Amino acid sequence: MTYGTVTKDEIAIFRSITDPERVSTGESVIELHSKDESFHKRCKPEVVIFPKSSEEISKILKVANERGIPVTPWGAGTSLEGNPLPCMGGIVMDMQEMNRILEEREGDFQVVVEPGVVYKDLNKKFSKKGLFFPPDPGASATIGGMVANNASGIQTLKYGATKDYVMRLEVVLPTGEIINVGSNAVKSSSGYDLCRLFTGSEGTLGVITQITLRLAPLPLHFTAVLVNFNSVEDATQSIYQIMCTGIVPAALEFLDTNVIEAINLYKDTNLEEKPTLFMEFHGSNEAGLKEELSLIEEISISNKCSLYEAGIGRQERDRLWEARYDTFESMKNANKGMEIIIIDTAVPLSKYPKMVDFARNEAISKGIKGYIFGHAGSGNLHMGLIKDPKDAEQAERGMEANDAIVRCAIDLGGTATGEHGVGIGKRKFMAHEHGPSLEVMKRIKTLLDPNGIMNPGKVFF
Ligand SMILES: Cc1cc2nc3c(=O)[nH]c(=O)nc-3n(C[C@H](O)[C@H](O)[C@H](O)COP(=O)(O)OP(=O)(O)OC[C@H]3O[C@@H](n4cnc5c(N)ncnc54)[C@H](O)[C@@H]3O)c2cc1C
Repeated sequence: MTYGTVTKDEIAIFRSITDPERVSTGESVIELHSKDESFHKRCKPEVVIFPKSSEEISKILKVANERGIPVTPWGAGTSLEGNPLPCMGGIVMDMQEMNRILEEREGDFQVVVEPGVVYKDLNKKFSKKGLFFPPDPGASATIGGMVANNASGIQTLKYGATKDYVMRLEVVLPTGEIINVGSNAVKSSSGYDLCRLFTGSEGTLGVITQITLRLAPLPLHFTAVLVNFNSVEDATQSIYQIMCTGIVPAALEFLDTNVIEAINLYKDTNLEEKPTLFMEFHGSNEAGLKEELSLIEEISISNKCSLYEAGIGRQERDRLWEARYDTFESMKNANKGMEIIIIDTAVPLSKYPKMVDFARNEAISKGIKGYIFGHAGSGNLHMGLIKDPKDAEQAERGMEANDAIVRCAIDLGGTATGEHGVGIGKRKFMAHEHGPSLEVMKRIKTLLDPNGIMNPGKVFF
């Protein structure tokens, strides 16, 4: 597919559809929308539009579709796989002006929002009402970006991913048609599940303009646990055994020694520099939580833990989670001037110890510094591989390690991406992971976006 450049006449048309000041070709705005949080190279859009309504978006998409202009939706640009980068130029559609909470339906534990609402703001507002939207990627993501990437996070283990909370969507298709999919009912067997189709579609099928989310009640009681081990193997065996008990932690995070070192350096903490598990448990009463903890302690001791600290108070628990959330920044701080390839695979739980072992050995054998961490209880392994942008040979070894680790995850029955999406970086693994069903995905894309204007160059080659 070839795309032309956006002409002055077309910019004038977009300005007539919106307010002229919401269509920008200014250098700083273009720069801001040419890079996400990944290492993928900068791609500049030709124009950035800040729409305020579905009707405006519909008119813009009609023009873009007729003239073959690429359109890439943009939430907060926190993606880690180049997902919102306008790699074919054209329009970036920044959704930040559509940030209203439209309807609070507390009786049904639901809320209707525009896509530009930042999930942290939503949770702050609803915490007063004892409700929250649990998927928590840590970064200041928008709900639209989370739905489009099917984001998840630390508490997905107990509460599920974004897809489990999306009930209805309003979507503007590339033709300009505005459709509503899903239902307010908790269950439905009515037809194909189009809500799930658009969730995780990374802006390649249409622009999401309204989202009805389910909310969960805030937990009444919680407790946090920190465990250190002398070896990675002991830590990963414990993860598997904990998950086999039937206890579902709210969070079960694994951090290797390199990660703890980087956190200590960045946060000025004095965590023991050993393979570590951070866990959190939620429940309706303290007695139940205590019972769960005694089982967790037993497993940790049987795997020769060097430290088991339970019942951590709120302040210390918040400090631990803050440290965990700053893992990415800590790695950047410890490796100034370097680029970080973030691996995001997920495997069946029984394969987690093998996956961690493979990833660690692969980095060592390629002579690449690697940081292993992740939402271990969900089988999600993240690894930061450090590469020097000025050392082409080392960068190549880094990419070789990345590719081997991702392929290993797929071969273990897992996936190339547990939560960050395909974007640019994971396209090369799609055929290996999906086989002939990739062709069906491509046909769906062609059906909904025959001119290929929506976020071209993502998900597929
Ligand atoms: C430090 C750090 C930690 C992270 N941890 C996690 C984690 O634990 N779990 C996780 O899942 N992710 C994580 N991420 C990645 C990222 O935060 C999430 O993927 C997030 O959902 C992206 O949201 P965003 O608003 O920034 O969207 P963007 O990055 O702007 O866009 C994401 C995708 O959605 C599309 N899009 C945006 N809005 C719309 C819309 N209205 N309609 C259609 N398409 C749209 C874009 O085109 C793009 O393809 C992390 C990122 C950072 C920097």
